[in-house]
Amino acid sequence: MNEIPTCIGCGAQIQTDRPGELGYAPQSSLDKEEIICQRCFRLKNYNELQPVSLSDDDFLRILNGLGERKGLIVKIVDIFDFNGSWLPGLHRFVGNNDILLIANKADLLPKSVKQHKLINWMKQEAKKLGLKPIDVLTVSAHKGTGVTEAMEAIDKYRKGKDVYVVGCTNVGKSTFINRVIKQATGQSDIITTSHFPGTTLDMIEIPLDDKRSLYDTPGIINHHQLAHHLHTSDLKMIMPKKEIKPRVFQLNPEQTLYIGGLARFDFVQGDRSSFTVHIANDLPIHRTKLENADALYEQHFGDMLAPPSAEFKEDYPELVRHEFRVKDSKTDVVFSGLGWITVQHPNVVVAAYAPKGVEVLLRPSLI
Ligand code: GDP
Repeated sequence: MNEIPTCIGCGAQIQTDRPGELGYAPQSSLDKEEIICQRCFRLKNYNELQPVSLSDDDFLRILNGLGERKGLIVKIVDIFDFNGSWLPGLHRFVGNNDILLIANKADLLPKSVKQHKLINWMKQEAKKLGLKPIDVLTVSAHKGTGVTEAMEAIDKYRKGKDVYVVGCTNVGKSTFINRVIKQATGQSDIITTSHFPGTTLDMIEIPLDDKRSLYDTPGIINHHQLAHHLHTSDLKMIMPKKEIKPRVFQLNPEQTLYIGGLARFDFVQGDRSSFTVHIANDLPIHRTKLENADALYEQHFGDMLAPPSAEFKEDYPELVRHEFRVKDSKTDVVFSGLGWITVQHPNVVVAAYAPKGVEVLLRPSLI
């Protein structure tokens, strides 16, 4: 029986039919004596980390492995999808290891967001989800903001131990690590295959300065994320590309806002008041009367109410209604993976609609 070859870099079993997944290498590489997977190849030759994803079982195996090691766990989440990009149960796997929580994509937040309010909210939310991080930081891996501070924090909290970076796909983990590599090493190609001894955890090892390493773990796919309900072309529209510009709507009770065809917000009850939408600038918002809202969706989902575009609308799940009685002024109704709507006045009833599994929650306004 032929043995399945493994990558000389990360030790993953080589496969040739699923690009983007662990251990992928082109068919032609099978002829070589030493096979290196595409992910390690790119890291070695271009100092560039490629995102890979893997199955839930593989991920559990990796998480279990983390508990057996000693080191600092750096967990990366997407600020815009804090709940959707959470790795549930991580704290149960990591044993006594500290977790540093880093929220990425800070460049997308409107300038008016107060950093301390954001950090406080993330700390509280983490606690609710069962995690007590040693610290919470925000960065923009894309722009480089906060990356130096994050590297300093990593160095402080790792206390001379290894570092394991975890996160679900699309949080910007690769972008972050690529930044770290560049800042730590300049442009030089310090990463050679000899630095990656085969490991059973399918991690990529990046040497730190003192015989310790930073390990990149493959990103898990969090199936309940809004992003997974959309095709690539539509996804581009929901992912903000630039700083979000708040859009203000004065609404009467019994009016509805559609966010494309992705989500819906009803002002059910209360005095006329203003609502500030913090969602990707390119996403169209459509206002209508509550009494007409259902019919409008039926007739215009996929055209006027898009994305999702007509081509992909059949794949988009039905919306689920969540009603909230908002007592305090300046409360955010958060649609995980999409953004949020700030309810500016107190004592109103609103309803927020999102696909099943996509979290909708309230928080005190960040502004
Ligand atoms: P990974 O799957 O977690 O490794 O994520 P990637 O590093 O491949 O990034 C996923 C997407 O998020 C890409 O489209 C990146 O351009 C984008 N991205 C990553 N970091 C940032 C950031 O700091 N700000 C913004 N706006 N986008 C980012």
